[in-house]
Amino acid sequence: SCGICVEKCPFDAIEIINLPQELQDEPVHRYGENAFSLYGLPAPQEGQVTGILGPNGIGKTTAVRILAGELEPNLGRHEEEPGWDEVLEAYRGTELQDYIADVRDGDVTISRKPQYVDQIPESFDGNTRELLERTDERGALDSLVERLEIGPVMDQSIDDLSGGELQRVAIAATLARDTDFYFLDEITPYLDIGQRVTAARLIRELAEEEDKSMLVIEHDLAILDLLADTLHVAYGEPGAYGVITSPKSVRNGINEYLSGYLDNENMRIRPNPIEFEEHAPRSVSRADTLVEYPDLTKSYGDGEFSLEVEGGTIRENEVLGVVGPNGIGKSTFAKLLTGNLEPDEGDADLDLDISYKPQYVTIDQHMRVDAFLSSITDQFGSSYWNTEIAQPLQLERIMEQNLSDLSGGERQRVAIAACLSDSADLYLLDEPSAHLDVEQRVQATKAIRRYAEQQDATVLVIDHDIYMMDLLADRLMVFDGEPAVQGRAGQPQSMRDGMNEFLANLEVTFRRDERTSRPRINKPESQLDRQQKSEGEYYYAP
Ligand code: ADP
Ligand code: ADP
Repeated sequence: SCGICVEKCPFDAIEIINLPQELQDEPVHRYGENAFSLYGLPAPQEGQVTGILGPNGIGKTTAVRILAGELEPNLGRHEEEPGWDEVLEAYRGTELQDYIADVRDGDVTISRKPQYVDQIPESFDGNTRELLERTDERGALDSLVERLEIGPVMDQSIDDLSGGELQRVAIAATLARDTDFYFLDEITPYLDIGQRVTAARLIRELAEEEDKSMLVIEHDLAILDLLADTLHVAYGEPGAYGVITSPKSVRNGINEYLSGYLDNENMRIRPNPIEFEEHAPRSVSRADTLVEYPDLTKSYGDGEFSLEVEGGTIRENEVLGVVGPNGIGKSTFAKLLTGNLEPDEGDADLDLDISYKPQYVTIDQHMRVDAFLSSITDQFGSSYWNTEIAQPLQLERIMEQNLSDLSGGERQRVAIAACLSDSADLYLLDEPSAHLDVEQRVQATKAIRRYAEQQDATVLVIDHDIYMMDLLADRLMVFDGEPAVQGRAGQPQSMRDGMNEFLANLEVTFRRDERTSRPRINKPESQLDRQQKSEGEYYYAP
């Protein structure tokens, strides 16, 4: 026991080194004796986008259920539940007072987007149009459909939509409703950067133009930065307790999060800071070649989509990043490399052992995680494997679960582990960030980098999270063209050249945060945006 709790520590299993001040006060809610406790609540504000940044399992959904009036908080008392009047009393004089009074009076309506959009088809039979028309309370549906580019799938069955299409339909459905409070649990999985920026702008507009309260959980830090006005950081021990801090400015909240230390709370949340390099890594030009692939072409059906890949080389021991919009042929290229797909022209018979993690992870066997992973590698359970794979990917706690019972984020971590555990010449990871929370992305990035360095492995990563790509990749391969019609892939190039080409296509520039060198998206048409575009420097400080 750490001596602070009155009776006995409710978190026996957990080592609390530095107990936060909040844990000495009563929680907002505790699910039961020795069960998860939540301390603090986010404060939605009319006309503002409030962000929450933190890991999964820390109580964000619990907080939202309280703010939606679905869960009556018990202030940690189980015998004699306090009721809303007493809760209101506890929040008198805080930012939440008025909001909680409205919840008590049943005056808060909410529209929410769930985290795992992949599950929507299980609960809805019908096509996109039928789903969306039921939500059109503001008369804004046509414009949402246009800006989110949903038009082409309006008459398609919900069952047949891709992850990125489902995500955009779910965002449109949530924003089309007319409620006081909108809650979006992650907007970016499966979306490309252009789509992420559009979704962020739509949410901002609803706050600014309609004076709505928006609350957003987001793990893509570049997008969160663009999206939110204020930020609550959530920290604690997933599954045991969670603390939601008072609101911070978005810039400070993200900076403190990255530094690993929360200033006002006087709280360390991670041993080491996450740091970005201001300058592009120097390209190593003399590395050995792992493989040289020729010009390749591939088209589907009657040429509805066609891809042209310029021949190039993948170097030994590098992490090669692959970027480009959705529907441009990145997965098709991956399948050409793995031999799952035959090119129309060019011989891609590369004679490589490839370990491949596809974009949509469908490991649904009735098998436990430990049995599954030990069937892939005889390194399973060795101290090396535990340190390099199991720990950073937080697998220990889910080893005994069945694959079919895993959440999206858990399944992703198992799939990354399975991909890296196989012995191969080339490790190919398609969107490893999807469904990982912000801390898991950091850990997964480190695990992949370390693995590449220590095992002399070559890794090819397709992802849309620009911070992850920055921290992970040595070189970049850029796809461009017209999504769903034709795609073109250039040769792998240096990070600086690659980022410039990629971001020029998107017309997005980044500046550097003065304190941390973290890249931040410039406002379109701001002075810096125009200056950087004219200099052709979209990402790395000139
Ligand atoms: P997040 O949204 O941050 O992922 P949640 O609020 O969903 O977190 O859950 C926080 C913790 O509370 C989890 O450990 C979860 O298992 C637990 N929890 C959620 N709902 C209940 C419940 N009804 N009874 C007991 N524990 C719960
Ligand atoms: P990305 O990975 O960049 O999102 P993909 O390679 O998955 O792009 O797809 C490129 C285009 O090819 C998309 O329009 C997609 O719908 C289409 N496509 C992919 N696979 C097939 C297939 N087996 N048959 C027909 N069209 C396909």
